[in-house]
Amino acid sequence: MPADLADVVAEVGREMEAHRGEGRVADYIPALARVDARRFGLAVVTCDGRTAEYGDAWVPFSIQSISKVFTLTLALKRQGEALWTRVGREPSGSRFNSIVQLEAERGVPRNPFINAGAIVVTDVVLDGRGFDAAVADIRDTLRELADAPNLDIDTEVARSEAATGFRNYALANFMRGFDNLKHPVEDVLQTYFNQCALRITCRQLARAGLFLAAEGLDPLSGRRVVSPEHARRINAIMMTCGHYDASGDFAFKVGLPGKSGVGGGILTIVPDQAAIAVWSPGLNDVGNSQVGTLALERLASRMRWSVF
Ligand code: GLU
Repeated sequence: MPADLADVVAEVGREMEAHRGEGRVADYIPALARVDARRFGLAVVTCDGRTAEYGDAWVPFSIQSISKVFTLTLALKRQGEALWTRVGREPSGSRFNSIVQLEAERGVPRNPFINAGAIVVTDVVLDGRGFDAAVADIRDTLRELADAPNLDIDTEVARSEAATGFRNYALANFMRGFDNLKHPVEDVLQTYFNQCALRITCRQLARAGLFLAAEGLDPLSGRRVVSPEHARRINAIMMTCGHYDASGDFAFKVGLPGKSGVGGGILTIVPDQAAIAVWSPGLNDVGNSQVGTLALERLASRMRWSVF
């Protein structure tokens, strides 16, 4: 008999109680360092509209790099396949904010989920409009997908990122030097910092990602978000590049497309079935949520969810 989702979520959640607080909260963005490391939330939304959640599933946290999934969605809609002339789709094997490959590869980042690649994607989202309009579009897209009209940007986190984002400034200026950014560095980065500073709950995030489990069509609203081809590609990149230089390890342990953020969140897609969001702020050595990864490993295994 297939395992019951609500039972498994409750069981995995209870098991995580003993692990609360493990890992290290990201402190390179000062406003993120203040988050309580003992938080843990888990939410699953299925394509047929069931939900199951545990713990702090309704507590907002900083979306950080998980926003890159949604800006990639917007950029693919705007530019289609031409996007791939400006950003690759290979795992980098390097840290999320590394600059080393960019010189040899002439300013074309390895994939849209390392910071350099995400900054190029944000540049595309800016095409034909100013920074304010691009930020509003990203926020409104999330509001609509998450069914959360009040979802908003934490301006303190955005300011904190801008004040300390020296590496992101370096990456952006370097790529502008290779003519792979079309807009002023300041506009691109302000947009990028704001998208990373969106506050979202596990429940909202799982809801927002559900279209990726259903070939680009939001199964609950019936709205088409992206084409099936683009949804498939976004999932493929989540699978191969969603956890920076630990993407292989996540594929090995969890077996599902996922995207992590330094706020401690992870969005995971179970094709044709569900979207899962987990949040636990303590990160492992490679910058992915330590307890979140463990919870996903157990949940996926007990539900027999895997693309393999
Ligand atoms: N805003 C973060 C940065 O650019 C995102 C990194 C992440 O979540 O991995 O440094």
